[in-house]
Amino acid sequence: MTSETSNPPTPDRIRRAPKVLLHDHLDGGLRPGTIIELARATGYDKLPETDADKLGTWFRDAADSGSLPRYLETFAHTCAVMQTKEALFRVAAECAEDLAEDGVVYAEVRYAPEQHLEAGLTLEEVVEAVNDGFREGERRARAAGRRIRVGALLTAMRHAARALEIAELANRYRDNGVVGFDIAGAEAGFPPTRHLDAFEYLKRENNHFTIHAGEAFGLPSIWQALQWCGADRLGHGVKIIDDIEVAEDGSVTLGRLASYVRDKRIPLEMCPTSNLQTGAAVSYAEHPIGLLRRLHFRLTVNTDNRLMSGTSMSREFEHLIDAFGYTLDDMQWFTVNAMKSAFIPFDERLAMINDVIKPGYAELKSEWLFRQTASTSGSVGPQATA
Ligand SMILES: [Zn+2]
Repeated sequence: MTSETSNPPTPDRIRRAPKVLLHDHLDGGLRPGTIIELARATGYDKLPETDADKLGTWFRDAADSGSLPRYLETFAHTCAVMQTKEALFRVAAECAEDLAEDGVVYAEVRYAPEQHLEAGLTLEEVVEAVNDGFREGERRARAAGRRIRVGALLTAMRHAARALEIAELANRYRDNGVVGFDIAGAEAGFPPTRHLDAFEYLKRENNHFTIHAGEAFGLPSIWQALQWCGADRLGHGVKIIDDIEVAEDGSVTLGRLASYVRDKRIPLEMCPTSNLQTGAAVSYAEHPIGLLRRLHFRLTVNTDNRLMSGTSMSREFEHLIDAFGYTLDDMQWFTVNAMKSAFIPFDERLAMINDVIKPGYAELKSEWLFRQTASTSGSVGPQATA
């Protein structure tokens, strides 16, 4: 007898399954219609399209160009319309709403406060507007019968020199909506060790951080992020595959760094579609996530930039299910991994796993059983499905 857990889940079940998202950029997830309305309200006239559908397509095409620097250009438009408290509040609220609608129950959404100061806001005003927006989005989700909790990660830009200041900001708001720190931006030429003072400060404060590393750039970037900077998690980390050898007979040998990452259960924030767009991976089927999953790395599935990648958590899982035949059990494994790796306190992570995630998957799996029982009532019992 086959069970539901050995069948690929349907799109509807993928959407309804509880999901956890650790790597999502606030300025990479706006609704196209919102960008147009905010541009109009603030007098920003550089948008390439004024029709929401066309604008959405433009973002995906620009991000499809295959290079990270070009991909990052699209953020000039989104950041341009996120310069007032009202705009930040709206974007954050819609972010939480959209994620909840997609079945995300816990998310850590990141943004760089220093990129929202052009109209005169202070760093604190930016953080508070985004926090208020997330709370509003959580409230709207609740009113619609959904549950989501959103924490913020404050990002510093690799090419800039404000990392310590942003780290201090993250620490100041750690009991008020901000759960950690990150650095992002082009990897080549901007090693994470430039920002050692920020990481050392956060370690002294017993605070958490993740570092974008091993996306466009290889193993040295991952090694620095872990062994020099002390990152709790790796943003992407997909290039760890360069330290793993697969012989012709299928046997696998891990180098010292890959072993370290696996042994220490360092969470990798994988973003498959984003990796295809920036050229960090060739196809879903050849994405390193397949091998890394088999080798039991601490993997998580993420969206990175929902607007630029035209994606959602459900869509990322759909692609992986197509490529690797993953089941609800695999989805649960990725989701529990992500929840274990979140930056909120241990007891709260455990409660999410035991009270939300596990019961959510158990319910989806039991639907199959009852459907089978109903369709075979009067006969001898549940039968195998195709
Ligand atoms: Zn990212």
